[in-house]
Formats: sequence, C-alpha cells, structure tokens
Amino acid sequence: MLRKLLLQTSAARRSLSAAAGAASSTGSRVLLDRRPSPSLSLSPRGPSRFYSSTSAQVPGGTFVEHVDDDPNGSTSQPSATISVDRSALYNPSEHSHEPTADSELVKHLKGIIKFRGGPISVAEYMEEVLTNPKAGFYINRDVFGMKGDFITSPEVSQMFGEMIGVWTMCMWEQMGQPSRVNLVELGPGRGTLMADLLRGTSKFKLFTEALHIHMVECSPMLRKLQHSNLKCIEEENVTQDVGHRTISTLAGTPVTWHAALEQVPSGLPTIIIAHEFYDALPIHQFQRASRGWCEKMVDIQEDSSFRFVLSPQPTPAHLYLMKRSQWAADEEIEKLNHIEICPTAMDLTQTITKRISSDGGGALIIDYGRNGVISDSLQAIRKHKFVDILDDPGSADLSAYVDFAAIKHSAEEASEDVSIHGPITQSQFLGALGINFRVEALLQNCTDEQEESLRAGYWQLVGEGEAPFWEGPDEQVPMGMGTRYLVTAIVNKKQGVPVPF
Ligand code: SAH
Repeated sequence: MLRKLLLQTSAARRSLSAAAGAASSTGSRVLLDRRPSPSLSLSPRGPSRFYSSTSAQVPGGTFVEHVDDDPNGSTSQPSATISVDRSALYNPSEHSHEPTADSELVKHLKGIIKFRGGPISVAEYMEEVLTNPKAGFYINRDVFGMKGDFITSPEVSQMFGEMIGVWTMCMWEQMGQPSRVNLVELGPGRGTLMADLLRGTSKFKLFTEALHIHMVECSPMLRKLQHSNLKCIEEENVTQDVGHRTISTLAGTPVTWHAALEQVPSGLPTIIIAHEFYDALPIHQFQRASRGWCEKMVDIQEDSSFRFVLSPQPTPAHLYLMKRSQWAADEEIEKLNHIEICPTAMDLTQTITKRISSDGGGALIIDYGRNGVISDSLQAIRKHKFVDILDDPGSADLSAYVDFAAIKHSAEEASEDVSIHGPITQSQFLGALGINFRVEALLQNCTDEQEESLRAGYWQLVGEGEAPFWEGPDEQVPMGMGTRYLVTAIVNKKQGVPVPF
C-alpha cells in the first residue's frame, strides 16, 4: 500500500510537472491578474511530499540486533552479550551491496564510531547525515522538486505560502499592528513559502513595512537559493550607517540569515514559522526489551557496512525518554515496543516559547505527525522513493513524525505566558483561512493546464486520499495530504486566541 501510494504520487508529480511546463511556455512564472489580494501570481507546481500514513511500518534499517533478551522476561540484568535475534529481521529493501568507495560522510561516520570505540545514537547519525557542514544531505544541493528527492507543500502550490501570509497578517493585527516585527522562518528550503507570503501580502504596506525577515538555515546552498527566490538585493544600510543590508524586492523587506533561532536578535515582537522543520530534527529511537527500554544505536559490522544494535546500558537520552513518558498515559506507553523521542524538538520548542513569551507574538508549526507518542516512524527518501535508512547516508532525506503532544508539553513547561493551540489538521487550518476562496479566485483566470494543476495542488493540500475529480490515469491520481499534516500555534497570551484555532 505504501509503495503504491508512493508510486501513484510520483507519477502524478510527473504529469503535473508536465502540465506546469506546458502552462508556462516561457519557462518562467506565469503572471495573472487576480483578486482579491493577496497579490496574484499563479505558479503551477508539482505535488507535495508524499509520506504515507502507514510509514510507521517502513523498515528502519539493514539489521536490528537485540542485546540478549530473556524470552521469559525474568531477568532485568543488563547483559553484555550481543546476539542476533533473527525473528526481528525483515526483508531488506533492494539496494546494491556491490563494494563502492565510501563517501566522505560514510568515512566521517565510521571515524566517529571507531574513535568513540562504540556505536552512535540514531540522533547523532541523523544529525550528521542531514546537516554535516561538509557533506550533509541538505548542505550542498537543492533536494526539493522533481529533480530532487521530495516536494513540500509550498512547492505544490503558491496558495500554501499565501495562506500562511494570511495567518501571519492576522497574527500581526492581533499583536496590535506593531511598527516593527521579526518574521522568522525555520528551515525555509528554497524560500518558496516566504516568497509567496511576501507576494501575497505586498499590497498591505503597513504590514510589509513592519517586517524584518530572518531565515534560519544551515545550508549555504539553500541560503543562496532563498536569496535568489526572494529577489534580494544588497542595499547600503543608511539607517544604521554600517555596511549593507539585504532587501527582498518582493515587498521591500530586509532579510537576514542565521544558523540558529538563538542568533535572531530579540527585543522585537516576533512571528515564527516552522514548516517541515521539526521532522528533520534528530530523533532517538528506543526498543522494548525484557530489561527495559534500550536505545537503538548505529554501529559498523564486519563487512564494514552499518547496522543497528541496542545499547546494553541506559544512555543519556533515557532522561528525555523518562520525561516524555511522564507526559503520556501509562496505557499509551504500555502498548508500544518502539518509541521515538526528539530532545532537540523539545529544546527548540522551549526556545521558541521563551522568545514568544518575552518579545510577544506567536509561532506556527506545521508538519506531519501525531498528537501523541511516536513509535517507529523514521524513514529515508531518495529520489521520491523510500530507501534503507543505513544505505548510502547523506544521499537520502531522513525524517520522522513530529510528536505534537511533546511540543505542547514542552511549551507549557517553558512559560506560563503563552497559550498553545491545536493541533488541527492542515485541511481545517487552510480551510478556515479561506483557501477555498483563493482557489476559486485563481481558477477564474487561468489556462486549462493551470486549472488542472491548481485543482490537483488544492486537493493535495486539503484533501484526503485520492482526488475524486481525477479523470486521468489511475496511477497518476493526486493524493490529499490535508489530514496527515497537523498545525499548532504557540502564542503570547496577550495576543488572545490566534485565527483560526
Ligand atoms: N520549509 C521548507 C523546507 C523543509 S526541509 C519547505 O517546506 O519546503 C528542511 C529545511 O530545514 C531545509 O531548508 C534544511 O536545510 C533546513 N534545516 C534542517 N536542519 C536544520 C538545522 N539544524 N538548522 C537550520 N536549518 C536546518
């Protein structure tokens, strides 16, 4: 089923991309005049990042080895003996075992494991694989779109960024229309969401003149792409008389890049957007054994490839597991044999919350996940296909479901001055913000190809399952993701209840 979904959607991606190409005969964005604002440039795109709801069943790696486990569960003594429990093996996904030269990242990972004299956590593996400054997955290339590895909602349709723009403006109004506001985006990818947000709101001068945009991005390559997509220019900084500042000509707003949220200057009211950022944060995986929860680790096996092993002793991440478990009902934990936790997400949420608490404003977090403990969701995607997590690290995206309940608890713990809203589904969120009106407005003035792309994009953002209106080949049917993605908001209590929660 999972594979079917994936194949269907990648086929749909091709067809829509062809439609988009046909619609844009000049090869550039097609500009159409539409109303009401947000301002109106119609850009057909391919469909969204397709993760199946069944992805929890995607096998996690090449081998899962258990520390020797008493079948009767009678001993809780840690054992140093490691034996292979072949009952837990699954059929490894197809990939080549032909000997190939190790990539820089593989050498680096093996170096860490050898230097430490033992395996590393899945979190450390994930962090290196995604954001290693030299060879991480995100660092040196554009991983989005048809030619990349996956497609995200902002890349599906301009309507996504425009709707986030509507939310941001509403938030700013609830904040009392401050004359200066920091708009922070965490992990902006190609910068498409922000570009659509700025285009969409560019007619509201009072709003755009208040904005200072801060892009939190670790990838130098993506920073350049964001600079270009926001149509940035360098301008002499007349106000502060120091150096130059970067201005997005889309709405005349200053833009600054940072490596982490902590680097964004504080003191101004702040709106933070995190779309598909949390799912890239490193997670720890735990597996139940008779002696308790054991952390899953990445090790090197004799043939020099990577394998999973279980930690014989409690690891530092156990503290976070205990913390997360305290936020859950006993029954929720009891039924699970695997648990994923994301300490970085908990810490980031606390940083966001403290910032919103001290400076005012709100944060919007959108991702796929669930409102509860996550069991076993880590997956690797390369060129629009699921692959083995341990296969050729750095060449595939790694992502995990986001634990929205942990976000809520982390925020509550960090400050009493904020309120947490949701999660609601993306479908509810975009619907309540008026995406239906927006798509109708866009449909009034578009070509047939654009119409097909718009309808498909709309369905992918808010629909569920296969698009009922689809008349093309079955294998190309657009798949709705509207209930797979969840939306939560953390706002300063002074701002009241944010739209549309
Ligand atoms: N929000 C975008 C991109 C999502 S992919 C979209 O929806 O299209 C994740 C993004 O977060 C990428 O831009 C990646 O480079 C960035 N990223 C991942 N981990 C990061 C980290 N630790 N610090 C800063 N940026 C990070």
